[in-house]
Amino acid sequence: MAEQQMPLVLQVKPQDNVAIAVRDLPAGTMAAPGLRALQDIPQAHKIALRHIPQGSEVLRYGVVLGYARQDIPAGSWVNEHMLTLPESPALTELPYGTNLVPPQDLPDPTRTTWMGYRNRTGPAGTRNLLGIVTTVQCCAGVVKVAVERIRRELLPRYPHVDDVVAVTHPYGCGVAINAPMAKIPIRAVRNLVRHPNFGGEIMVIGLGCEKLTYDRLLEPEEINPENVLTLQDCHGHDAMMQAILDMADRKLQRLEQRRREELPLSELVIGMQCGGSDAFSGLTANPSAGYAADMLVKGGATVLFSEVTEVRDGVQFLAARCPDAHTRDRLVAEMQWYDDYLAAGGVDRDANPTPGNKKGGLANIVEKAMGSIAKSGTSPIVEVLSPAEKPTAHGLIYAATPASDIVCGPCQLASGIGLQVFMTGRGTPYGLDIAPVIKVCSRDEMKDFWFDMIDISAGGVATGRSTIAQVGHEIFDMILDVASGVRKPYSDQYGFHNDLCIFNPAPIT
Ligand code: CA
Repeated sequence: MAEQQMPLVLQVKPQDNVAIAVRDLPAGTMAAPGLRALQDIPQAHKIALRHIPQGSEVLRYGVVLGYARQDIPAGSWVNEHMLTLPESPALTELPYGTNLVPPQDLPDPTRTTWMGYRNRTGPAGTRNLLGIVTTVQCCAGVVKVAVERIRRELLPRYPHVDDVVAVTHPYGCGVAINAPMAKIPIRAVRNLVRHPNFGGEIMVIGLGCEKLTYDRLLEPEEINPENVLTLQDCHGHDAMMQAILDMADRKLQRLEQRRREELPLSELVIGMQCGGSDAFSGLTANPSAGYAADMLVKGGATVLFSEVTEVRDGVQFLAARCPDAHTRDRLVAEMQWYDDYLAAGGVDRDANPTPGNKKGGLANIVEKAMGSIAKSGTSPIVEVLSPAEKPTAHGLIYAATPASDIVCGPCQLASGIGLQVFMTGRGTPYGLDIAPVIKVCSRDEMKDFWFDMIDISAGGVATGRSTIAQVGHEIFDMILDVASGVRKPYSDQYGFHNDLCIFNPAPIT
């Protein structure tokens, strides 16, 4: 596309009455034929394409973002203060199965195998890690020090083991362990112990007086000195450290035997997440990731997407992609649970957008949700999971989690993802140590600014330099390279790894 033909505004659907600015548009700019910017319009923000009378619909993605609080003349900057939020879609009688894209219409994967670590059960690993899981935060300091010593003193003897990871978290004690919703954090820790990247080696460190006891995490036959160590049983610091190092050494000897082998895509589970989104996210990064998701699903892989508050306003589009009433009902149940959870806290889903989202042009949660859903691609939703559950099917899976990056990450890890693809508009150094995270940004300016922290820019989709399919192929290739261990995303190169914040909707005592 020639430079002079590059559009200054991007309209998604013909019926839309707002479009977003590809770059900063100073007042007076001819934004499109017959459309002059009436005031300065920041990049990624919305411009009114025609006169929008007070009280009428403001449309983007063909969806009502809100209702105009005042008359909005054509060429105006349309920001969050000018819209009244619509009601979220009703959860009753949502039609299902009305938009089931058949497999032949999905884009073909350009590779059908990858190199991973096969496990006795469940999906394969993308890394060969020793994971040391704490039952309770009280053990975290000890385990972090022990992990540093294991890295220094033991790991050099085990060249086939990638790393050792302290799986610490805020849960475990001082909590209402028998509250109905405690099942979520308990399930999360239980499933993290068995993460595919840990190769079936169980190493759990407890304190001795906590509420999250071994029997809540492990099977009876797994509770033995090979797998669990209780700090209150250790006689002072030196004996405590030595016991952890000895236990780690035995685990490392077994992990050292693991080798990568060529595996079908059906052995791969990945997660999609976005954070620090802007109004470009739904046009460039998320649909490109969705294209890669479609390629993976067609190849037999499992792809999770999540973040309840960011799909709630598009639930009707997701229900249409559920093949049966059962899957639709599971989807509705997760949405209803979250509606009630937010209501109990005195808020609704519009508590989600951040100041950065709004600075990036997202007016409200409806606009954010329309962009967020794009990362799921187009394939049917074959299963719906509650937070931290493990999938039982291959294909596209809706795994309900909070949208918070730092909470969604551990939930998806507990569901067994071997890799996460993370889309961002504003930029975040987010990363996970249990599974690699590939960062995809929505604008070229972001990639230019964080050139050595963002892995892929989808910004060319907005400027006409590239297409969603091209960026989708680029993401797909990087997923398989990173999963196979031949490339490292930036977050792993620098060791930018976040703490694991386990989702605990149950009371703390
Ligand atoms: Ca998020």
